[in-house]
Amino acid sequence: MTIRVGQGVDVHPFKEGRDLVLGGVKIPHDRGLEGHSDADAVIHALCDALLGTLALGDIGRHFPPSDPRYRGKDSRFFLREVTGLVRAKGFSPHQVDVTILAERPKISPHVPAMVAELSSCMGLDPSDISIKATTTERMGFTGREEGIAVWAVATVRKTEGR
Ligand code: MG
Repeated sequence: MTIRVGQGVDVHPFKEGRDLVLGGVKIPHDRGLEGHSDADAVIHALCDALLGTLALGDIGRHFPPSDPRYRGKDSRFFLREVTGLVRAKGFSPHQVDVTILAERPKISPHVPAMVAELSSCMGLDPSDISIKATTTERMGFTGREEGIAVWAVATVRKTEGR
């Protein structure tokens, strides 16, 4: 079985008056993340990890922020598209592991809903999707609640011409 590995990182600053969307789930909070799309840093990091498995560039190359079509876009669209690019190369998502760095809000209650969303977008079994969160003990930009950072690792397996 041929397995390939990719990693991705994304960071967005908080902004008042925006919805907080992570992993395709709207999370109740006093502010959201700023960005051209819905600023879903979980999905953006995951897209970059999946693209990285096959050296397909990054999310900004495939969906440029300068393109008005992506303004306020639901990032689940990007994840479905990226999954399609992976499949077009004869591979499919195999397993993902995501770490969210956030001082607040508490992420863990929302993990099952995020796993369900990511599962649906990638056609991947929920048992192959790991999402976890940590604070940075009040240090750095995440600790000062200036924004949220996300790290993601993905593996894909060859499904054609094995
Ligand atoms: Mg982003």
